[in-house]
Amino acid sequence: MNLNTIVEVKRPKSADEIQHWHEGYAWLAGGTWLFSEQQVHTNTLIDLQTLRWPALDVSDRGLEIAATCTVADLYAFQPPDEWNAGPLLGECCRSFLSSFKIWNEATVGGNVCMSLPAGPMISLTAALEGTSTLWPRDGAPREIPVADFVTGNNKNVLQPGELLRSILLPKEALAKRFAFRRSTLTHLGRSAVLLIGTQTPQSKDLLVTITASTLRPVQLRFESAPSAKVVRDAIDAAVPDDLYLDDVHGSPPYRRHLTYYYAEQIRQELCA
Ligand SMILES: Cc1cc2nc3c(=O)[nH]c(=O)nc-3n(C[C@H](O)[C@H](O)[C@H](O)COP(=O)(O)OP(=O)(O)OC[C@H]3O[C@@H](n4cnc5c(N)ncnc54)[C@H](O)[C@@H]3O)c2cc1C
Repeated sequence: MNLNTIVEVKRPKSADEIQHWHEGYAWLAGGTWLFSEQQVHTNTLIDLQTLRWPALDVSDRGLEIAATCTVADLYAFQPPDEWNAGPLLGECCRSFLSSFKIWNEATVGGNVCMSLPAGPMISLTAALEGTSTLWPRDGAPREIPVADFVTGNNKNVLQPGELLRSILLPKEALAKRFAFRRSTLTHLGRSAVLLIGTQTPQSKDLLVTITASTLRPVQLRFESAPSAKVVRDAIDAAVPDDLYLDDVHGSPPYRRHLTYYYAEQIRQELCA
């Protein structure tokens, strides 16, 4: 839609060009959310595409995903064979309620910064133990695990003007085996529940990442293969009733039930 409150669009070559952050400024990534509803408090958009950050960088450390990498570019990426978790990239890209426009324009960073429970790039990068690099406007860059970046429904740790630069998925996490479970109330709908389990090869550890059913990501880490009861008790301890999301895509009891159900399936698949 037309945003008739916008009076300026800045196209910086470097993020340092935006030294002073004003109320009314907003970083513009793919714009799929920004242009989907009125932005009455925004008067200036700052286009991130002109920064021309390389979308994806494979190195000895793993995979670095620029915040401006589109979901379509991530989906097109061919992960190396030794990354057992490589197919998870595609699984999560397909986990959007998305039109053609969203699929091609939405960015990984925009999705993470929206911090919606059903943000599949949050599910992916939290489950693969990603670390986000943040650029404050007036300080040194800082790093924070993606699992701690989102603090609630549409809430995160970003300070005013702070920019998400990139997310590093470490090669150790990319080498893990994985199990993926997702449910939507409607066909091709928004995720109601999205759980990912990962496990170090030749090991019995287990990391379960719960997203979509909860307001923010919840991670359960087990050093050795847990029993069904241990997993269920860990969910109860980590997810109080009011942490389950309540919206048209699923009630809290429905989401809680599927969270238990998928966690047990994941446990059996990876630890049996
Ligand atoms: C029909 C429809 C369906 C949708 N389905 C889903 C869905 O299933 N799951 C879901 O999670 N979302 C969904 N969305 C919301 C949104 O489209 C996605 O979250 C999308 O990934 C946002 O990415 P973007 O690049 O378009 O972000 P933008 O719209 O450009 O930006 C989103 C917000 O993040 C900020 N931002 C963007 N990049 C950065 C950065 N690098 N650093 C700091 N701040 C930044 C912007 O200022 C803005 O506040 C949907 C939207 C629509 C209209």
